[in-house]
Amino acid sequence: MIHTRNLVKSYRNKLVETPALINVNIDIGDGEFVAIAGPSGSGKSALFNIMGLMDRPDSGEVYFNDIELGSLSEKDRLNLRRGKIGYVFREFNLIDEMTVRENIELPLLYLNLSRKQRSLMVEEALLQFKLGHIRNYYPQQLTGLEQQTTSLARASVFKPLLVLADEPTGDLNSTDGSVIMDLFSEICERGITVVIFTNSVQDAQKAQRIIQLHDGHVVTESAQMISNRPV
Ligand code: ADP
Ligand code: ADP
Repeated sequence: MIHTRNLVKSYRNKLVETPALINVNIDIGDGEFVAIAGPSGSGKSALFNIMGLMDRPDSGEVYFNDIELGSLSEKDRLNLRRGKIGYVFREFNLIDEMTVRENIELPLLYLNLSRKQRSLMVEEALLQFKLGHIRNYYPQQLTGLEQQTTSLARASVFKPLLVLADEPTGDLNSTDGSVIMDLFSEICERGITVVIFTNSVQDAQKAQRIIQLHDGHVVTESAQMISNRPV
């Protein structure tokens, strides 16, 4: 479903050029739950931004279901971002002025859905993520775990093909982080491909497969225990 070919990206600050990705080749299949793991500075954010269509590589290609992203118009890129990819961020990125329910409904407003369809999808997500009892609360009234759970609901409510997460447990303690990782597994079991970027070994081990990044290179790939795979 996602293939990268010889991705190269560097950042230039004044006269200094910092390589972030060096010939990165990654293949992720439909329905997989993959962790892209590496220490700070290994290129995870650069890859997250490119795979999420928020940035472009200097060279190389990204294929999304065999479509080469570089060949897409801005309008098609926007449609992919809004309709096919759900995003989860380290700092939750919920809208403070909106309730849990309204935050979850947000991505549906960009799609061509009736009020009734939106309402049904939000109700299903509230049930799936067990958020019904806090549906009318605002983010500031919630724990970190509740906020990140809300953002997982928001990222998957429109049944995207792919959910991408950048350090999704970075602002949580390890118990809450583990709960969030299990929720990603559940999202994957519902047929959505999940890719998380993390510097936590504990989190990465919850995925089916780990792709290790170091200094902008893919260094190793390892299969996880078979029991982690969805049936
Ligand atoms: P993380 O390790 O959590 O991904 P970083 O500290 O690497 O976060 O990066 C946080 C933000 O700062 C990102 O938007 C990244 O693009 C930017 N950034 C990282 N390194 C530099 C740098 N050397 N100069 C300018 N911006 C940077
Ligand atoms: P990670 O997310 O794994 O921490 P990043 O993708 O943020 O890694 O960074 C990879 C490399 O690119 C690091 O050396 C970082 O300092 C550098 N970098 C990232 N963003 C910027 C930026 N905006 N300007 C300059 N250098 C950057």
